[in-house]
Amino acid sequence: MKNKSKHSWVNIDPANYEYVDSYSTKPPRIDPHNLDGSIYLLELWRKQREDFRAKFVGTQYPSLSRCDCCGAHMIYGNIFNHDSGDLVKLGETCADNVEFHDSKRDLAQKRLRDRAKADRDSQKRLEARRITRREMINELKTNPEFREAFKIRKRNDFIYDLLWKRIQGYKWTERQEEAFYEAAKKQVEFYDKKQIELNEREAKLATAPNLTEGKQSITGKVIGKKWKSDDWGCTLKIIVELSDGNRVWGTAPAKVLETIDEEDGVKVTFTASVIASDNDPHFGFFKRPTKASLI
Ligand SMILES: [Zn+2]
Repeated sequence: MKNKSKHSWVNIDPANYEYVDSYSTKPPRIDPHNLDGSIYLLELWRKQREDFRAKFVGTQYPSLSRCDCCGAHMIYGNIFNHDSGDLVKLGETCADNVEFHDSKRDLAQKRLRDRAKADRDSQKRLEARRITRREMINELKTNPEFREAFKIRKRNDFIYDLLWKRIQGYKWTERQEEAFYEAAKKQVEFYDKKQIELNEREAKLATAPNLTEGKQSITGKVIGKKWKSDDWGCTLKIIVELSDGNRVWGTAPAKVLETIDEEDGVKVTFTASVIASDNDPHFGFFKRPTKASLI
């Protein structure tokens, strides 16, 4: 509402306007069964548009599709004569304001009533959505699914955001509720799977012999891979898990590099020299792999 003129939303005084004419910014439809009549109406519309346009040249909103009061776009315009001699075009709402109210005060009161009603309505909508802290705690106590989701909230942004909304006091929509429980279920499953894998690995390593050093034949599954670049170019680094659970890290053998790069969980065998890590007897590094092949 940048319009500072006497016709602006703030300044407009219904007492000073007199209705002149109305127009549509859209051309009339052509009726194929009545071409002559349609063309006549179209010509009339064009002429009227030219006339009206000429009246608003050089004003703040010269376009016939902008309201001189609020600046909004409009399809139907209404022209009024102002006491000052100005011609003014108003959209439906602003035209109603000057036509159905006698004075500025009258209009101001109507606007206050409208605003109060809008406030009441939005307050009612908020109240309808609000849940109390007690209800929330009650749900934590009685709904195991909700409690589970609450516990893992920090592992998943989506779950956290929805919970946060709720903690702020808003009830979810049905859709949000569904999405929340779905996400929580998936997150729990994902975590459980990871935990099972970790447990399995721990059990395996408990009985695994320490990694042996020196030149040896290595057979296992590629469980991790990453491209690294250095002064000599790009190399694909891989982690291979041996059948006893020990893991070795090094550059992927050139012969099988393409397959390892393209596929996940590739099983390989090769010969290389191994050095154990200083702080993990089940982890080491391999160098100069040869005689590589896929299994
Ligand atoms: Zn308007």
